[in-house]
Amino acid sequence: MDTEQARARLQELLSELEGSVATLEHEGPVDDTDELSHYDQHPADAASTISEADRESALIDAARGQQEQVLAALARLDEGSYGRCVDCGAELGAERLEARPEAARCISCQTAAEGAR
Ligand SMILES: [Zn+2]
Repeated sequence: MDTEQARARLQELLSELEGSVATLEHEGPVDDTDELSHYDQHPADAASTISEADRESALIDAARGQQEQVLAALARLDEGSYGRCVDCGAELGAERLEARPEAARCISCQTAAEGAR
């Protein structure tokens, strides 16, 4: 595996994630206060505003979670353990790393970890 290529992909992913978190936070519910005064505030609007805020905060959480995984993957690159499952030590394989360069686990360990959550 080409670790320099993996590092470049991870760093690119990290800056993309930083960009999306910044965008989401900038467009977050705080900015809606000005706009709200232009709308009739009946309950349906209030409900959709809340779910929009929830959706954005879920997206921010997801992006932050992925950022942590990318940072952990960069740390594994430095340690030389990148590309192996953190649970069972199996090779992750080029295809999995292609799809998810920040992947920490093989598919079966990942499924088990998500099931245990
Ligand atoms: Zn595994």
